[in-house]
Amino acid sequence: MLQFKLVLLGDSSVGKSSIVHRFVKDSFDEFRESTIGAAFLSQSIKLDEDDTVIKFEIWDTAGQERYKSLAPMYYRNANAALVVYDITASDSLSKAQSWVEELKNKVADDKLVICLVGNKLDLCQEDSGKRSVEISDAKQYADEQGLLFFEVSAKTGEKVNDVFKSIGESLYSY
Ligand code: GDP
Ligand code: MG
Repeated sequence: MLQFKLVLLGDSSVGKSSIVHRFVKDSFDEFRESTIGAAFLSQSIKLDEDDTVIKFEIWDTAGQERYKSLAPMYYRNANAALVVYDITASDSLSKAQSWVEELKNKVADDKLVICLVGNKLDLCQEDSGKRSVEISDAKQYADEQGLLFFEVSAKTGEKVNDVFKSIGESLYSY
Protein backbone atom coordinates (compact mmCIF):
# COMPACT_ATOMS: atom_id res chain seq x y z
CA MET A 1 0.00 0.00 0.00
CA LEU A 2 1.19 3.46 -0.91
CA GLN A 3 0.17 6.47 1.12
CA PHE A 4 -0.06 10.01 -0.26
CA LYS A 5 -1.06 13.38 1.14
CA LEU A 6 -3.57 15.32 -0.91
CA VAL A 7 -4.77 18.89 -0.32
CA LEU A 8 -7.88 20.60 -1.70
CA LEU A 9 -7.67 24.27 -2.58
CA GLY A 10 -10.07 26.72 -4.22
CA ASP A 11 -12.55 29.49 -3.61
CA SER A 12 -15.22 28.95 -0.96
CA SER A 13 -18.40 27.17 -2.06
CA VAL A 14 -16.96 25.73 -5.27
CA GLY A 15 -17.65 22.29 -3.76
CA LYS A 16 -14.33 21.11 -2.30
CA SER A 17 -15.94 19.45 0.72
CA SER A 18 -18.69 17.99 -1.44
CA ILE A 19 -16.13 16.37 -3.77
CA VAL A 20 -14.30 14.85 -0.79
CA HIS A 21 -17.54 13.55 0.72
CA ARG A 22 -18.60 12.05 -2.60
CA PHE A 23 -15.23 10.31 -2.85
CA VAL A 24 -14.97 9.17 0.78
CA LYS A 25 -18.61 8.49 1.69
CA ASP A 26 -20.31 8.37 -1.72
CA SER A 27 -22.90 10.87 -0.50
CA PHE A 28 -23.95 14.45 -1.21
CA ASP A 29 -25.52 17.00 1.11
CA GLU A 30 -27.24 20.11 -0.37
CA PHE A 31 -26.79 21.98 2.90
CA ARG A 32 -23.19 21.25 3.78
CA GLU A 33 -21.83 23.60 6.44
CA SER A 34 -18.79 25.53 5.30
CA THR A 35 -15.47 24.16 6.45
CA ILE A 36 -13.76 25.80 9.41
CA GLY A 37 -9.96 25.78 9.08
CA ALA A 38 -9.53 22.37 7.50
CA ALA A 39 -10.94 18.87 7.71
CA PHE A 40 -9.06 15.58 7.49
CA LEU A 41 -10.42 12.47 5.81
CA SER A 42 -8.89 9.40 4.24
CA GLN A 43 -9.86 6.96 1.54
CA SER A 44 -8.13 4.19 -0.39
CA ILE A 45 -8.46 3.11 -3.99
CA LYS A 46 -7.14 0.20 -5.98
CA LEU A 47 -5.37 0.93 -9.27
CA ASP A 48 -6.47 -0.81 -12.46
CA GLU A 49 -3.01 -1.99 -13.57
CA ASP A 50 -2.28 -4.23 -10.59
CA ASP A 51 -3.41 -4.72 -7.00
CA THR A 52 -1.66 -1.62 -5.71
CA VAL A 53 -3.71 0.15 -3.06
CA ILE A 54 -3.29 3.90 -2.81
CA LYS A 55 -4.34 5.51 0.43
CA PHE A 56 -5.08 9.23 0.27
CA GLU A 57 -4.77 11.34 3.39
CA ILE A 58 -6.93 14.28 2.45
CA TRP A 59 -6.81 17.81 3.82
CA ASP A 60 -9.93 19.72 2.82
CA THR A 61 -9.15 23.39 3.42
CA ALA A 62 -11.57 26.29 3.90
CA GLY A 63 -11.58 28.66 0.95
CA GLN A 64 -12.29 31.84 2.87
CA GLU A 65 -9.77 34.68 2.78
CA ARG A 66 -9.40 34.66 6.57
CA TYR A 67 -8.00 31.13 6.48
CA LYS A 68 -5.65 31.76 3.56
CA SER A 69 -2.56 32.02 5.78
CA LEU A 70 -3.18 28.45 7.00
CA ALA A 71 -3.02 26.92 3.53
CA PRO A 72 0.80 26.51 3.38
CA MET A 73 0.59 24.24 6.44
CA TYR A 74 -1.54 21.85 4.38
CA TYR A 75 0.13 22.06 0.97
CA ARG A 76 3.74 22.13 2.16
CA ASN A 77 4.09 18.35 2.46
CA ALA A 78 1.43 17.42 -0.04
CA ASN A 79 2.07 14.90 -2.82
CA ALA A 80 -0.98 16.05 -4.75
CA ALA A 81 -3.24 19.09 -4.90
CA LEU A 82 -6.78 19.22 -6.17
CA VAL A 83 -7.51 22.80 -7.22
CA VAL A 84 -11.24 23.27 -7.60
CA TYR A 85 -13.38 25.87 -9.37
CA ASP A 86 -17.10 26.10 -10.12
CA ILE A 87 -17.85 25.97 -13.86
CA THR A 88 -20.83 28.32 -13.29
CA ALA A 89 -18.62 31.01 -11.68
CA SER A 90 -15.76 32.36 -13.79
CA ASP A 91 -14.23 34.25 -10.83
CA SER A 92 -13.55 30.90 -9.23
CA LEU A 93 -11.30 29.88 -12.15
CA SER A 94 -9.12 32.98 -11.60
CA LYS A 95 -8.91 32.01 -7.94
CA ALA A 96 -7.92 28.46 -8.92
CA GLN A 97 -5.24 29.85 -11.23
CA SER A 98 -3.78 31.90 -8.39
CA TRP A 99 -3.64 28.75 -6.24
CA VAL A 100 -1.78 26.96 -9.04
CA GLU A 101 0.72 29.86 -9.17
CA GLU A 102 1.18 29.73 -5.41
CA LEU A 103 1.75 25.97 -5.45
CA LYS A 104 4.30 26.26 -8.25
CA ASN A 105 6.15 29.01 -6.38
CA LYS A 106 6.05 27.61 -2.86
CA VAL A 107 6.11 23.84 -3.11
CA ALA A 108 9.66 22.62 -3.56
CA ASP A 109 8.66 19.11 -4.64
CA ASP A 110 8.68 19.21 -8.44
CA LYS A 111 6.81 15.90 -8.46
CA LEU A 112 3.74 17.53 -6.91
CA VAL A 113 0.73 16.35 -8.92
CA ILE A 114 -1.78 19.13 -9.48
CA CYS A 115 -5.26 18.41 -10.78
CA LEU A 116 -7.56 21.23 -11.89
CA VAL A 117 -11.19 20.32 -11.29
CA GLY A 118 -14.25 22.16 -12.60
CA ASN A 119 -17.19 21.20 -10.36
CA LYS A 120 -21.02 21.46 -10.62
CA LEU A 121 -21.21 19.87 -14.06
CA ASP A 122 -24.81 18.80 -13.27
CA LEU A 123 -25.98 22.45 -13.30
CA CYS A 124 -24.85 22.87 -16.91
CA GLN A 125 -26.41 19.62 -18.03
CA GLU A 126 -29.82 20.88 -16.86
CA ASP A 127 -29.30 24.35 -18.38
CA SER A 128 -26.31 25.03 -20.62
CA GLY A 129 -26.82 28.80 -20.12
CA LYS A 130 -25.46 28.40 -16.60
CA ARG A 131 -21.96 27.56 -17.78
CA SER A 132 -19.54 30.46 -17.43
CA VAL A 133 -16.21 28.66 -17.92
CA GLU A 134 -15.78 26.89 -21.26
CA ILE A 135 -14.24 23.45 -20.96
CA SER A 136 -11.83 24.23 -23.84
CA ASP A 137 -10.43 27.32 -22.02
CA ALA A 138 -9.87 25.43 -18.77
CA LYS A 139 -8.37 22.46 -20.60
CA GLN A 140 -5.98 24.70 -22.54
CA TYR A 141 -4.83 26.36 -19.31
CA ALA A 142 -4.35 22.95 -17.66
CA ASP A 143 -2.32 21.67 -20.62
CA GLU A 144 -0.11 24.78 -20.64
CA GLN A 145 0.56 24.35 -16.94
CA GLY A 146 1.00 20.58 -17.04
CA LEU A 147 -2.00 19.86 -14.82
CA LEU A 148 -4.44 16.97 -14.84
CA PHE A 149 -7.92 18.23 -15.66
CA PHE A 150 -11.50 17.05 -15.10
CA GLU A 151 -15.01 18.45 -15.02
CA VAL A 152 -17.05 16.68 -12.34
CA SER A 153 -20.24 16.80 -10.33
CA ALA A 154 -20.05 16.13 -6.61
CA LYS A 155 -23.85 16.08 -6.68
CA THR A 156 -24.27 13.22 -9.17
CA GLY A 157 -20.82 11.76 -8.56
CA GLU A 158 -19.91 11.99 -12.26
CA LYS A 159 -16.13 11.65 -12.80
CA VAL A 160 -15.28 12.14 -9.11
CA ASN A 161 -13.59 8.74 -8.76
CA ASP A 162 -11.76 9.30 -12.06
CA VAL A 163 -10.04 12.33 -10.52
CA PHE A 164 -8.59 10.33 -7.65
CA LYS A 165 -7.74 7.37 -9.85
CA SER A 166 -5.87 9.58 -12.27
CA ILE A 167 -3.97 11.29 -9.45
CA GLY A 168 -3.18 7.89 -7.96
CA GLU A 169 -1.84 6.64 -11.29
CA SER A 170 0.35 9.72 -11.72
CA LEU A 171 1.76 9.38 -8.22
CA TYR A 172 2.32 5.67 -8.70
CA SER A 173 4.18 6.13 -11.98
CA TYR A 174 6.81 8.36 -10.31
P1 GDP B 1 -16.58 24.31 -0.37
O1 GDP B 1 -16.74 25.60 0.37
O2 GDP B 1 -15.69 24.49 -1.57
O3 GDP B 1 -16.15 23.19 0.51
O4 GDP B 1 -18.01 23.94 -0.99
P2 GDP B 1 -19.14 22.96 -0.40
O5 GDP B 1 -18.77 21.55 -0.65
O6 GDP B 1 -19.43 23.35 1.00
O7 GDP B 1 -20.35 23.31 -1.37
C1 GDP B 1 -20.86 24.62 -1.48
C2 GDP B 1 -22.29 24.57 -2.03
O8 GDP B 1 -22.29 24.09 -3.37
C3 GDP B 1 -23.21 23.64 -1.24
O9 GDP B 1 -24.48 24.23 -1.17
C4 GDP B 1 -23.24 22.38 -2.06
O10 GDP B 1 -24.44 21.68 -1.89
C5 GDP B 1 -23.12 22.94 -3.49
N1 GDP B 1 -22.46 21.99 -4.39
C6 GDP B 1 -21.27 21.38 -4.21
N2 GDP B 1 -20.97 20.57 -5.23
C7 GDP B 1 -22.01 20.66 -6.10
C8 GDP B 1 -22.29 20.04 -7.37
O11 GDP B 1 -21.54 19.24 -7.94
N3 GDP B 1 -23.47 20.40 -7.96
C9 GDP B 1 -24.34 21.28 -7.40
N4 GDP B 1 -25.47 21.55 -8.05
N5 GDP B 1 -24.10 21.87 -6.21
C10 GDP B 1 -22.95 21.57 -5.57
MG1 MG C 1 -15.58 23.21 2.50
